[in-house]
Amino acid sequence: MSKIDSFNFSGKKAIVRVDFNVPFNEKFEITDDTRIRAAVPTIQKILKDGGAAIIMSHLGRPKGKFNADFSLKHIQAHLSKTLGVDVIFAGDCVGAEVKAKADALKPGQILLLENLRFYLEEEGKPKLAEDATEEETKKAKAEMKEKQKTFSKELASLADVYVNDAFGTAHRAHASTAIIADYFDNDHKMFGYLIESELGSLVKVLEKPKRPFTAIMGGAKVSSKITIIENLLDKVDNLILGGGMTYTFIKARGGEVGDSICEPEFLDLAKSIEVKAAEKGVKLYLASDVVAADAFDNNANTKITASDAIPAGWQGLDAGPETVKTFTQVIENSGTILWNGPVGVFEMDAFAKGSRAVADAIVAGTKKGAFSLIGGGDSVACINKFGLAEEVSYISTAGGALLEYLEGKVLPGIKAIQG
Ligand code: AMP
Repeated sequence: MSKIDSFNFSGKKAIVRVDFNVPFNEKFEITDDTRIRAAVPTIQKILKDGGAAIIMSHLGRPKGKFNADFSLKHIQAHLSKTLGVDVIFAGDCVGAEVKAKADALKPGQILLLENLRFYLEEEGKPKLAEDATEEETKKAKAEMKEKQKTFSKELASLADVYVNDAFGTAHRAHASTAIIADYFDNDHKMFGYLIESELGSLVKVLEKPKRPFTAIMGGAKVSSKITIIENLLDKVDNLILGGGMTYTFIKARGGEVGDSICEPEFLDLAKSIEVKAAEKGVKLYLASDVVAADAFDNNANTKITASDAIPAGWQGLDAGPETVKTFTQVIENSGTILWNGPVGVFEMDAFAKGSRAVADAIVAGTKKGAFSLIGGGDSVACINKFGLAEEVSYISTAGGALLEYLEGKVLPGIKAIQG
């Protein structure tokens, strides 16, 4: 594979997979353009070298057919303004007209393809009748696999070079994120700057962490984080478990959790995680006290209780003051910090103090020289809400892809280029 920084795009056409799956308001105005801005360095590098960029992305879930609501045309003007360059809209992503537009592209120009997911081939999932037999299903899947290859090849034929800069979809083995790479030799496929920096920060954290390495896992449920927790047990020195999953662990220890969110079917698993942590010498931190409320409401009555003595009718919605002190001390003295998931219901101000303290401690730790990585939807929303995004080392743009990476899975979009 090539490296984007040392590659010379002069006279070349590069097809770039970006993640422009951005949110809109009812007037189709983009309400958060983070993902567009994240792709700018890669596109600018191609243009600056004297190359042309063919941009492709998905947008929403149009289920394999044209739907004007999901057209990338809604992004054309915003992209053009962000880059300060005219953007030509292709109207489709494959076909003779698109090919002609790509062929006519001059150095310095940008062609924006239409939503890839207007074709079922992008995701490669065939439409099946509800009563499809096993045989019919198998046949449809095999046919779709072939169609997906043809579609990928057609996309590849538009350009000389393939650049993947869509970390957010790197966990999908789709036509534009993975299969297309088969149609370029190693010297003509590479990651864009965004994927390079995402991977660089993940490697720093998971493969070469400065010790001690502390992971803070929060969020609502244990069930969605089990694989990550198990994978992290082999890597971290300290594991702070917060948020809703606290109560499954406390209950597993025999504590009273009142009406707190709890997953009784995961009690054994919580116990086994504690045992594994002890075996591996990982220090596991759980809340010792919590902010309990008599309703899931910002205006509910609250009181501080021990985390294992929450009365019936009360639920733990945030970390308590003693817990915050412990968490803060551990985080501030870390060499590497990974944060995924709030330690309380941070959306309600009454229960945001714990997550705010975690964010402050990460900032303090970072100032003292730690490398801090924050990722996974809610913790990013959290750090943004507190206005501290600039004060940490790296914020991941990805949701599902980051979680799968943290689970230790190989991401198809990464493998397709790295081999
Ligand atoms: P997740 O998507 O699993 O990371 O969960 C994030 C959500 O967990 C946020 O919306 C928080 O409000 C919620 N959460 C955090 N702590 C609690 C808690 N103690 N009880 C209920 N929900 C919580």
